[in-house]
Order: sequence, then C-alpha cells, then structure tokens
Amino acid sequence: MVIKKYLMTPGPTPIPSFVNISMQSLIHHRTDEFREVIRSCRKMLKEYFQTQNEVAIFTSSGTGAMEASISNTMCAGDKIVTVEGGKFGERWGKIARSYGVKNIPLNVEYGDYARPENIKKIIDSEKNIKGVYIQASETSTGTFHPIDEIGIMLKKDYPDILYVVDGITAVGVMNIKPDKWGIDMLISGSQKALMLPPGLSFISVSKKAEGFMERSKLPHYYFDIKGELSKKDTLFTPAITLFLGLQRSLKYILYEEGLENTIKRHDLLARAVRESVKAMGLELLSKKPTDSLTAVISPKDINSSNIVRIMKDECGVQISNGQGDLKGKIFRISHMGYIGKPDIVMAIGALEIALKKLGYHFSLGQGTKSLLEIFSNG
Ligand SMILES: *Cc1c(COP(=O)(O)O)cnc(C)c1O
Repeated sequence: MVIKKYLMTPGPTPIPSFVNISMQSLIHHRTDEFREVIRSCRKMLKEYFQTQNEVAIFTSSGTGAMEASISNTMCAGDKIVTVEGGKFGERWGKIARSYGVKNIPLNVEYGDYARPENIKKIIDSEKNIKGVYIQASETSTGTFHPIDEIGIMLKKDYPDILYVVDGITAVGVMNIKPDKWGIDMLISGSQKALMLPPGLSFISVSKKAEGFMERSKLPHYYFDIKGELSKKDTLFTPAITLFLGLQRSLKYILYEEGLENTIKRHDLLARAVRESVKAMGLELLSKKPTDSLTAVISPKDINSSNIVRIMKDECGVQISNGQGDLKGKIFRISHMGYIGKPDIVMAIGALEIALKKLGYHFSLGQGTKSLLEIFSNG
C-alpha cells in the first residue's frame, strides 16, 4: 500500500514546497546580495516577534540561542530562577549550571503551569536574583505558561531582573507581545512554526538585555549576540540556504497569510484537536494547553508507543510520544506551522484507527465528527 508521510510532530514540522524551492540555489554569503537577505530577514523577524528590539540570528538549533541567553548576560555565581515544568524547562537549569550560574528551580508539576506569585516568592526569599528563565510553551507537556502575567509582575515589582522567554513553540502560534510584557530576550527556532528545516535560532534583545550583556563575564565565542548584531552580515558562515528559506517563509506568514490570520488558524486547529480527543473520552495532560501542540494522556492499559506506531505504520502520520518519564504515557499531536484543516482531519482519523485497533472503547467516528462540526462552523 502507498504510504504518504505526514509530519505532525512538534518539530520538525512540514515544509511548504514554495519554501523548499526558495532554498535550492546557493549564493555566497560575503556579497551585497546576501547582506540584503540578512537585512530583510532581521527586519521581518522584528515584525514576526512583534517587537521593536533587534533580533539576532544564529546558525544552530534552538538550544544554541537558549545557551546564548545565559552565556551573554550572566556572570559565574549569579542566581537565576528557572521554571521547570517539563523537559525544556529543565534544560535552562542544565545550561545555567554548566556555566557556573546558580539556578533556583520553580518546580511545576508536569502539565501544570507557573503561577506569578510562586516566582515572586522565590525572588523575595532568595534575594539578588538576576534573571527569570521560562518557556512560553513547554513542548514536552503541551502547556502554556502565563508569560504575560509573569512579565507584567516582573516589570512592576522587579524592574532590574532580566526576563528571558523560550518562545520556540509559541512565537508565530500565539499572540506574544514582548515589549508590552517586558520580555528582554525572546527566543525561537526555525523548525517549528516557521515551516523551515532545523538549523536557525533567533533571539531578541531589549535595552535592559544589552546592559546585562555589557556586565556579563561568562565565556562565549560562537554565540556572540553583540557581535552578530553589530555586523551587516554574520560572524561565521551561516546556513545560507536556510536564510533564503527564512526570507520566503516570513514573507508568506507576514504578507500572504498575515500574522493575525496565522495566529487565528492555530487557535482554530488547536481547539478542534482538543475538542475531538475529549469527544473520544480522552484527557489532556495540560491544565493550560498551548496552541502549538496537544498532549493527550493515553487511555488506561494502552501504551502510547503503540498509538504512535500504528498511526505511522498504517496511515503514515508521524506524531510524537511523551519524553522522559512521560514516554508511553502520553502522545503529542502537533498543529503548528504549515498545517491546515485537512491535516487535522487526517490525524484524528488515523488516531481513531489506532485506538480501535488497540481495543479502546469508543464509537468510531466520534472524534472526527466533533472535529468536522467545529470546522464547518469556524
Ligand atoms: C524544540 C524546542 C527547543 C529547541 O530544541 P532544539 O532541538 O535545540 O532545536 C527549545 N525549547 C522548546 C520549548 C522547544 O519546543
């Protein structure tokens, strides 16, 4: 049987053919032609990030920009709060400790979200906290942390603390307002909502963050934010073709679909997935779900690895298992990036097939019906 492949994972995500085509011809990076590509990418990224701050681009996966947000701003011995409610939150602590930066974790139960008052408690009891590091969307649990409330609290009560948000599965998915919410550094990556292959990371830099960069004494060489922003081209050989793809995908999002419509589309697809899995009697892991992906608790006695496997083998639909302790317990369907209504119909159809084969009790078509109702109304 012909098995077409459908990528429904929270990174990498599918790439439109018009973006693929834009990445086919290689040009040299020390040319006016390529400097123009960089200029237009940086300009459009500001619009995409909804910020007045400059956005630096690195050739790296998203974690590179996460690391840069610590290695360019902190000093050994500094104390930061890291919100740890999943795999990506825990990464903040690991990066910090590898630089001799002390992290005080706010431990959040997997699936739950961070409360501003709990961050406040740590800041008040620890004294001398230099930064707060959090995910907007914690991809391992499908949770949205209230980065707006936290940012507004920090801005009001602790204006000297650096506020860093990993928005890798949130920027371009939900309405994030870095300037209004006091986000000093907002991070994203190419292989999620931007509909590109992995290989580029982005970081916006506020005036306050620039001040932190001046006082920082941590070593860094490749990930030099100030160095990157001070040049019309890049410090080192960039992933040239990915820059060309970035220019194309940003044009599409900003001027063809329109960012507002992109965000509305993600809202609709996310709602439809949530409602359809609930209609099948399944439960979401998250108390505050993000719009980029949906984490679903596997039914009792069914290992989620089998759901993921059957969806892939029978239907070619690749979704994700849980990570770490959640492996086998949850599955994650992504609806971020180049995804439309038909993709969701297919994914939920494939999920129904897998659940039926695994003996889960529900009436076939229940999830799809609820989905089609939402789509025919919205
Ligand atoms: C994908 C992702 C990252 C980056 O991971 P890389 O593998 O380094 O690209 C970071 N944070 C979140 C929340 C993510 O979803």
